[in-house]
Amino acid sequence: MTILGIDLGTTNSAMAYVKNGQPEMIVNSRGERTTPSVFQKNINGELVVGSVAKNQYSSLPEQTVLEIKRKMGTDEKITVGETSFTPEQISAHFLKYLKQAAEDFLGEKITEAVITVPAYFSDAQRKATKIAGEIAGLKVERILNEPTAAAIAYGLDHPDSEKNIIVYDLGGGTFDISVVRLDKNLIEVKASAGDNHLGGMDLDRLLVDWVAEQFAEQYDVPLFSFGEASEITQRHARVKLEAENVKKSLSSELSATFNLPFLAVYEGKPISLDYTITRAEFEDIVRSLLEETLVHVDKAIHDAKLAPDAIDDIILIGGATRIPLVQKLVEAKFERMAKKDINPDEAVALGAAIQGAMKEDSLSEESSLMVIDVCPYTLGTDVLRIVDGKRQSGYFDILIRRNEPLPVTAKKIYNTVNDNQTTIDIGVYQGDDEDARVNDDLRITETPLIVDEIPENAAGKEKVEIMFRYDVNGLIQIEATVLSTGRTISQVLDAQRGIMSARQVKEAKLELFDDWEKSKLASEMKGVIRRAKKVRRNAEPQQAVQIEEAIQQLEYAIQETDVELVKAREEALLDLLMEIIE
Ligand code: AMP
Repeated sequence: MTILGIDLGTTNSAMAYVKNGQPEMIVNSRGERTTPSVFQKNINGELVVGSVAKNQYSSLPEQTVLEIKRKMGTDEKITVGETSFTPEQISAHFLKYLKQAAEDFLGEKITEAVITVPAYFSDAQRKATKIAGEIAGLKVERILNEPTAAAIAYGLDHPDSEKNIIVYDLGGGTFDISVVRLDKNLIEVKASAGDNHLGGMDLDRLLVDWVAEQFAEQYDVPLFSFGEASEITQRHARVKLEAENVKKSLSSELSATFNLPFLAVYEGKPISLDYTITRAEFEDIVRSLLEETLVHVDKAIHDAKLAPDAIDDIILIGGATRIPLVQKLVEAKFERMAKKDINPDEAVALGAAIQGAMKEDSLSEESSLMVIDVCPYTLGTDVLRIVDGKRQSGYFDILIRRNEPLPVTAKKIYNTVNDNQTTIDIGVYQGDDEDARVNDDLRITETPLIVDEIPENAAGKEKVEIMFRYDVNGLIQIEATVLSTGRTISQVLDAQRGIMSARQVKEAKLELFDDWEKSKLASEMKGVIRRAKKVRRNAEPQQAVQIEEAIQQLEYAIQETDVELVKAREEALLDLLMEIIE
């Protein structure tokens, strides 16, 4: 049984599998090797995914969702038309499409997948990704870090290397940098760093701002300030799509043009935009954002205890690394050229497929690999300290240091601080600041993580052992044991705000199935309904009413996802049309 490798990107996604010991890309139903991560639910209830949805974005911005990856792990609701979705549900719809496309390509059912995420994704973001897979009907065999996946693909291609490489991954929405040691068949991540909110889409946004500035200068009015709200949304969508096109063109051309005919109507006059930007101007606009990536690069090579000249190969992945300035900055830093023999859009999916095959043992003996990844974050709890004779709370006490190899388990013993203290609230933080509250609180949960039933005793007499475990998927588990009684509280951090509960996941799975059934029916009935509406236009008034009723009955049956009823009402409508036409 094939385990699907899925690179679930902010802007584009890709799939791969292993065939005869070698990873290969899977093309979608349109013959594309990557699929835009765009989801659309149109007013008929039809679900559209990928390029078609992206192409229709500027005409249906309110029915279209882009860049959902940025929202994973949050409790934000996304409204598409009339329906509200969690980020996991949108991502699940997208994964469901990919799963179906892979099944059509391979001619077999797919039930398991390795899904990649940015190395710097938090616990909540990883969990949300895993849940999205489950809703889509996929058992997520592994959540794999994207740069690690690319290093695996590179490692399989260069089996006898003994090298230090960096994987610089600038995708649509995230940036990751990993320093990796390749030692024959061992792939050992030494350090990872990154930013979950830095990617190609941020460059697009800067270009949209640039267009808005040019416009304001020319017309003396802000571009997104006039007209109906829906017009402004559409206008924004068109400029955003064009910004991405211009950005991509500037990777190969020295100048590119924003060509936006009839973008708006202002003071009764139609306005078309035609602004040319040079590569040098673009570089000025995006330079400081791109230079930020180098700060993370420095951190990662420092953590890996390597000097820049100890790096043998530079691997660039993610579509945005096609930007010449990105290449220039990285190559200048390491004083060497980046490798060009790796496809930046495909390496991650190929690596995910290889990881899946490792579980299945379907790689040949000579290509067998061993992969060691790291925890990119420092994790700890908050403690009370005595400073200058005074008690001060909120100190960050580290349990797991960043870049520890996975899986990693750390235990520490803490005392009660008050007489007869019977409970301890365990804080879980990620970050590097001495003040716990400055770091990210991972336990943003409705129910705090509390150890209770501690026997009443003098301050400091009762001891609680706290264990943090960061597993190979990057998920955190916490355990606390009251040493005097052996009472243990254990919790995977799954009661976080923004993470769907098991019951919600079950319901979402049924809903998703129903939505796709409905979508299938709606798309099958589209032709008949269109024809009926055409006949209705030229029909006698009484016949027109009959047709309208029959259409409504058919639409109702689609809404109810009642296949039998849809068939019956389709037939009734067709019979009626035949009668009228005759
Ligand atoms: P990924 O998530 O790896 O598919 O990366 C997608 C990001 O790369 C998007 O922001 C794309 O606009 C960007 N991208 C793709 N091709 C190019 C290109 N030729 N030049 C600049 N950016 C690109």
